[in-house]
Amino acid sequence: MELYIHIPFCVQKCLYCDFLSGSASVTVQKKYIDALIQEIRWRGEAVRGEGRAQTVSSVYIGGGTPTVVEPEAICRVMRTVRECFQIDDGAEVSMEANPGTLTQEKLFAYGQAGINRLSIGLQSADDEELARLGRIHSWADFLVSYRLAREAGFDNINIDLMSSLPGQTAESYGRTLRLVTELLPEHISAYSLIVEEGTPFYRKYRDHPELLPDEDEDRRMYAMTEEILGHAGYRRYEISNYAKPGRECRHNIGYWIRTPYLGLGLGASSLYGEKRFSNTADMKRYLTALSAENADRKEGLCKILETEETVGRNEAMEEFMFLGLRLTAGIREEDFLHRFGQSLESVYGGTLARLTQEGFLRKTDGGYRLSHRGIDVSNRILAEFLL
Ligand code: SF4
Repeated sequence: MELYIHIPFCVQKCLYCDFLSGSASVTVQKKYIDALIQEIRWRGEAVRGEGRAQTVSSVYIGGGTPTVVEPEAICRVMRTVRECFQIDDGAEVSMEANPGTLTQEKLFAYGQAGINRLSIGLQSADDEELARLGRIHSWADFLVSYRLAREAGFDNINIDLMSSLPGQTAESYGRTLRLVTELLPEHISAYSLIVEEGTPFYRKYRDHPELLPDEDEDRRMYAMTEEILGHAGYRRYEISNYAKPGRECRHNIGYWIRTPYLGLGLGASSLYGEKRFSNTADMKRYLTALSAENADRKEGLCKILETEETVGRNEAMEEFMFLGLRLTAGIREEDFLHRFGQSLESVYGGTLARLTQEGFLRKTDGGYRLSHRGIDVSNRILAEFLL
């Protein structure tokens, strides 16, 4: 099982962001951490099997910007996690961080708390592009944060990048990729900007898509990612993720192969025991339900529940296909049979044969993976596995 822990605070909201995050006073942050700790305790108790704490293979503290809160808060969260769950020896414990919010003292505390992987949100090495995104940092700020992280001993670092940004060209994107690879991070995530409804970007670009890179430029940037990163020794292991050998993000792989996970914190969702459920996104409700006065576990957890559904067999099969095929290793027939007691051929035989014939899928030894062509149009191809 994996754990995801949500810290919904940021210094300020980036203009493209639709994550559940925002700025908040130190008082709210403190109350939130207390509530989160209560939730971790209660969930830990709720999933305890036969007197034994559940074993956890990876922990991911995301946000928001977890590095905004006091480092002691992160230490308390991690102490509680260790009290309530059995963390595997050698488990990956990742935390998201943003430049401009990291200090030597914080990094030292994170190391002490057992965090062994950092995921730093850079997005671009071009200061004008960063300013247009509403990011709080410059390239120089990022370099300081990155150096501090290395000095603090973090030897497993991801850098997040984005392409198709307003005002970005294939040339400036290529420069970002090259500058980043020179720093030798272990992992690079590279996503295309999606203009999400409800964001300032949506209001600005919905009626003016010509202000964003056009489709040809977008394709050029997309192709450059694999070319430049591949050249620098990064292997693509998922549609948008690249790593040095052996440095793939284990937590995310767990998600793509449908390892059960508990999401803890505001708005966090879980997949556990064939159920998918999510917490409320309403901060007031979350804090009240988990306050110390409200001491009943069942009632408290029930009050923060926003949605709950049983994952049906068909839905589980669809997810197995379209999450698994995101990985360049693809899916294995044996895993499908083991998971569903039915052969892959009997459920998806026709679709697999057609997509393989059309060149979007490749048959591997014991399974299937997306071809290069398939990766290029992955959204369309993956949608073919809806039952
Ligand atoms: S730092 Fe990340 S989570 Fe926070 S507002 Fe910006 S994009 Fe959103």
